[in-house]
Amino acid sequence: MKCPFCHHNESKVLDSRITEAGDSIRRRRECSKCKKRFTTYERVEEIPLTVIKKDGTHEPFDRNKILTGLLRATVKRKVPREKLENIIAEIESDLRNNFRYEVKSKEIGEMILEKLLRTDKVAYIRFASVYREFQDTAEFLKELDRLEKQATKIREEASSRKIKEAVKKQETSN
Ligand SMILES: [Zn+2]
Repeated sequence: MKCPFCHHNESKVLDSRITEAGDSIRRRRECSKCKKRFTTYERVEEIPLTVIKKDGTHEPFDRNKILTGLLRATVKRKVPREKLENIIAEIESDLRNNFRYEVKSKEIGEMILEKLLRTDKVAYIRFASVYREFQDTAEFLKELDRLEKQATKIREEASSRKIKEAVKKQETSN
């Protein structure tokens, strides 16, 4: 990478980050000779990801489309937008790391759900109701029930842990 000021060939990378669009890497460099700073962009050579829809048609993997869905699912929930963007980035890198360049929309839906379940239960339900297309209301209610039980179990575990800790504290203070 030649310095634009003195044309020296060596530079030090001070900072690297992926651009917002996710398709290039921005590097902040410092020339080893004249010490001036400049920025370079490296485009990531990407094989496009293709989504196979339920009706068999193909469309490109679209981060924004998924983000729109996630934002809708998290309306009035305290899930930071950054977290949602991370979910999408994780899914994309999971697919790429596994050389999955063609993936069914249903599979992407399941991947999103798996991550949402660990992030926000309400968002999970909202997203699931759209993506998983519950066969009927009974099935939807069953899922709600399962999640509620899971949430209760987690709460109970947490509170019994707290009680144990409180008892322990008292024992040690006595
Ligand atoms: Zn220079």
